Parts: sequence; C-alpha cells; structure tokens
Amino acid sequence: MELAKYTFGVGDRFAHQGKAQLRAIMRANESGLDISPVWNKSNREHIYVHTYPADVRREADAAVAALGFTGKYFVDADHINLSTVEPFIDTADFFTLDVAAFIGKPSSDADVAAFVASCREYLGELAIPGIEKPIQVTPALLAQVAGKFLAAIRQAAEIHAHLVARKGEGNFVTEVSMDEVETPQTPVDMLFILKMIADAGIPAQTIAPKFTGRFNKGVDYRGDLRQFAREFEDDVLVIDFAVREFGLPESLKLSVHSGSDKFSLYPIMGDIVKKHGKGLHVKTAGTTWLEEVIGLAQAGGEGLALAREIYASSYGRKDELCAPYLDVIDIDGAKLPAVEEVEGWSGESFVNALRHVPGHPEYNPDFRQLVHVAYKIAAEMGERYLSMLERYDEIIGRCVEENIYERHLKRLFGW
Ligand SMILES: [Zn+2]
Repeated sequence: MELAKYTFGVGDRFAHQGKAQLRAIMRANESGLDISPVWNKSNREHIYVHTYPADVRREADAAVAALGFTGKYFVDADHINLSTVEPFIDTADFFTLDVAAFIGKPSSDADVAAFVASCREYLGELAIPGIEKPIQVTPALLAQVAGKFLAAIRQAAEIHAHLVARKGEGNFVTEVSMDEVETPQTPVDMLFILKMIADAGIPAQTIAPKFTGRFNKGVDYRGDLRQFAREFEDDVLVIDFAVREFGLPESLKLSVHSGSDKFSLYPIMGDIVKKHGKGLHVKTAGTTWLEEVIGLAQAGGEGLALAREIYASSYGRKDELCAPYLDVIDIDGAKLPAVEEVEGWSGESFVNALRHVPGHPEYNPDFRQLVHVAYKIAAEMGERYLSMLERYDEIIGRCVEENIYERHLKRLFGW
C-alpha cells in the first residue's frame, strides 16, 4: 500500500463533514494535483468524543462513495502505541506509531556499539547532496544519537511487527512519529533515525519529527520562518539521501504534525517540496470542528444561540478544557471576550472572531483557541449538537469546504 505524493489530514471530530472535506480535496485536484485525504483521529479524540475507529472508516467510505472519488484515501490510527492500537486494527490502513515516550530510554551498550559500528562508512565529513555544510560524523555523535533514539525505534519495530502479524505485510502505511516532545530533532538526528528505521526493517512511508517553533492548535506558527525553512529543507534532503543510501521506501516523506492552520509555513513547505520534487503529508488538528461552530453562528437563530452557548460553557470551564492541551495552546485570558459581550454579538461578529483570517480586525486567536479545545462541550450535548449539524448541514458544509480549499490547500500547494 503506497501513499500518494501529497496527502492531507482531514480529522473530523464528529464525523459529519467527510463529504465537505472530500469536496475541497477534489476541487483542488481539478487543478491537476493528486492529493489524497487521510482521515486521522487519535485515541485521545475518540475517548473525548465517544466515537470509535470504525466510525471514521464508515465516514470516509461513505464520502468517497457519495462523491465518486476514485483516488487513494486513507484512515489513520493517529498516535497509537502498543497499548492503544487494538481498536484501530480492523478499520485503519495508516498507522502513526508514536514512540516519543521512548526517546531517551536507555539502550544496552552493546546495541549502541553495534549501531556505531554499522555507521563506520559515514565517519568523517559526510556530504548530503543539496545541503551546504557537510556533517561531521564522529563515533561520539553516533553514540549520542543511538543512546537517545535506539529504544524509540526498537519500540516502533515492535508495534510494526504486531501490525504485520495482524494485518499482513504491505496492507497498511506506516508513519513513525516523534513530534510530541519538547526538544526538536535536528536533520542530523533525522539521518541516523532513518538508518535505525531501515536497520529495523520498518517500511516507513512518513516520518514526523518535532520541528523548532510553536505549533499551537488551530492558529499560525510562532517562530523563526527562515530557520524553519532551513530545517525543513534539510530534512527533505536527508530523507532523499536516506532513501537511496539505506534502502527505505521510495515514497518516504515528511509528515508535518501541523496542529492545523500553519498558514505562514504552508507556502514555504509547498515551495521546498516542489523544488525538490518530493512528497508531503500534513496532519491537521480537527479544526473542521471550528468550521461547524462558524457555520452555526453564520446560520443565525438557534444555530447562533448554540454557538454562543458553547462559548459560554467553555469560558466557565476554561481550565478543565485547556488542561490536556497546555503544551499546544497559548490563551491570554485577558483577551477572551466576556460571555455577556458575546451574547450581544451578531452572527457575523462571532464568525469574524472565530474564523482564521490573519489580519482581520475582529479575528481573536485567544477566542479561537478556547473554542477549539471546547469540542468536549459539544460532545456532551450529544444528539442536541448532532441534530443541529444536520439541520444546518449545507451552510456548515460550505464553511468546511471553503476552509480546506481556500485557506489550507491553496496556500500549501499554490495554483
Ligand atoms: Zn502529532
């Protein structure tokens, strides 16, 4: 099972927007691109929303059938490990092996020494085509990288072997993710991590490193754009080198766990992968849910009332809702509008505050981040929320489609 060159994550908290998401991708593909949608949902999300992995498969299949989509598409068991993978095995065909928790776990001296010995031919000045400065590879550097990452890759190999036993070799796509950690991995780390992945026989098609800078949920990147561009391009070139040198799958590409809406990074990433003729996977963070709230507010009447109610509840439960996401949100409480103020907002003002249009005078990223983590409130509303999604399906669907097409895919792949 081989990934297309470009894949785009379309997480969908409440599993109602599959068709609208797919419409956006199909519209982009009309311009000659071949983007595959990947419906991703993590175990954590399933627990909060009370959905099951089979729901995502049903949603994806139904959208594909309804719209007659003939391209490749995938269902991603996002951020799984050995203890959480089981419910995903039957219905997912893309597995994101999260081994971040194993980074830095000790490996035996013998294993580290064996890895160092296996890299003998790279000692000294190692030139990666396209990267200006050669890497100085020393036994100490190799031992350090092995000490840090061997245990994580060993864990990835264990999860992969488990999946092969259950699903059969070649029947699924493998991603290795290390993004949910504090310290970014450098392109040099990446090079030797890929060597370990190849040595372990893991046919990874995507790899998700931690990049420098802040990737907060649902809002733009915060960090040095030039530094990001250099890091990203070096990673792309390292992967290209590793594919040829270590015999990894030709389709291996970077997976950017974007947290959604990294608008200032999109053109940078798009230009670099186009320049080198490489692929890209962008994983997103379920901001389709925000388009549902935007659509409800835009609909006015009971839709707007529900959107206001969701905000009012989230305002009162801010600490609880933010707790699981403290590392990936930055909300300035002083910039959150008071509940009474929002009660007085028109639908248009609500939409303008929530919708991510950089530079719009009413856009409020603090408001947006709080509503983003408030999907638990909609989940608690249960049928009441879902019935409103159905009632305002058309207007919400338009918001979902426009968001992915105009604000994401156009910026990323530019046509
Ligand atoms: Zn991630």
